[in-house]
Amino acid sequence: MSDFNTIYDSHLALKDKKISATELCNEYLKVAKENPNNTFITLTEDYALNKAQEIDKSGIKNHLDGIPFSLKDLFITKNIRTTAGSKMLYNYIPPYEGTTSSNLQNAGAVLVGKVGCDEFGMGSSNENTPFGPVNLPLNKDYLPGGSSGASAVSVLEKSSLFSIGTDTGGSVRLPANFCGLFGYKPTYGRVSRYGQIAYASSLDQASPFARTPLDIAIIMDAMTKNDEKDSTQAPIGAMSSTSKILNNKDKSLSLVIGIDRSMIENCREDVRENLNQSIKELEKNGVKFKDITLPHLKYSVAVYYVIATSEASSNLARFDGVHFGFSSTEGHDLENSYALSRSLGFHEEVKRRVLLGTFCLSSGYSDEYYSHACKVRRLIYDDFQKAFNECDYVYSPVCATTSFKKDELMTPLQMYMNDLYTIPVNLAGLPSMALPYGSSSLNSLPTGFQLIGNSFKDEELILDSHKIFEVLK
Ligand code: GLN
Repeated sequence: MSDFNTIYDSHLALKDKKISATELCNEYLKVAKENPNNTFITLTEDYALNKAQEIDKSGIKNHLDGIPFSLKDLFITKNIRTTAGSKMLYNYIPPYEGTTSSNLQNAGAVLVGKVGCDEFGMGSSNENTPFGPVNLPLNKDYLPGGSSGASAVSVLEKSSLFSIGTDTGGSVRLPANFCGLFGYKPTYGRVSRYGQIAYASSLDQASPFARTPLDIAIIMDAMTKNDEKDSTQAPIGAMSSTSKILNNKDKSLSLVIGIDRSMIENCREDVRENLNQSIKELEKNGVKFKDITLPHLKYSVAVYYVIATSEASSNLARFDGVHFGFSSTEGHDLENSYALSRSLGFHEEVKRRVLLGTFCLSSGYSDEYYSHACKVRRLIYDDFQKAFNECDYVYSPVCATTSFKKDELMTPLQMYMNDLYTIPVNLAGLPSMALPYGSSSLNSLPTGFQLIGNSFKDEELILDSHKIFEVLK
């Protein structure tokens, strides 16, 4: 295996002809084909090799030319099976291309395959799927987190140089944290959602996993082109973070970072130790921490599970075996056939959420639950805006623990609590970078923190994460 671990280093090696795109692709395909951690649902070997050969002929121009990557199987890819990690779409071959896939492939990246996830993005462990759980390569008794767990694992096991997941309530930052990678959730509206199978439309954003903030910058620059097919994307043009990082001469970290210390107090001891250590290190390098309070964040999980499930119940209504999805042949009339297709096609967790969401939106209850949750969502947003009057970023844990074991039985509610620190960011529509920092004194697994920025401060956040990475590594 070549020793280039990052997009940027691999790009330099490709440019200097130390390796060809086809050789690089073959190295990553070899791991993908062995699939040691049950990462892949669909491999695109021939497709990848054709593309790599084309790139070898036309030469290396862009940073992403010839870079192998994977997509969470929630992204629509033309003529390539797209399952959403679900029996419902087991054999679905889309007739069109989604924007995330086309942007990255047009920038030269080579698609190695489609990787697993919790069905329709619902979960925090990558276990809610008929395709089976994915191993954490660092210790196979443990899980990589979810719902985009397989995306994180594909980077860690080196079957991809980067991967794109979706972050609705933390599904990229949580696995990034559990796997010791960078995971970036953009401002809501920064990337297109066209061709991303919807879970909760007001929260979902395509979000990358990579090994450095510079790699995240390279990916985000390609993903943020204006897309007239999605009216929820802000038409403000592509980012240019890569050149900002490469041309940056100012290494100083004269930042003010807000911190609500009660969040850290509530973490498990091993995580808390490392968070406190990261704060000390940042302070040594010029960062000033300022105490803030975010009083409404304690309602985030409740608000999220009303809003996300309400939106999911509406988005998933199309999967009835007639319009889309698995179709049961047992039904004796139309209504019964809908019911059977949905009860056999969806996993238990999806059904739980569709039921909850339908209840929250039902007449007589929607004011009490859905409308009420929308009001509290606004208060959570206001808490962050108040904080940003006093600081550049907000510091937060990603999760109170490290990764958990496969046999650690949790109730659905215990599982939902893993997203306590990631969910507020999605509710407020803000950008956030999960940064790896240290490993646990209990089990040696990775730990880290997140930095939350104000809306559309994506370029600044990625540049500052790069500077922080340089001083902490
Ligand atoms: N774990 C959260 C959920 O199950 C977040 C999922 C996500 O971000 N896609 O809803």
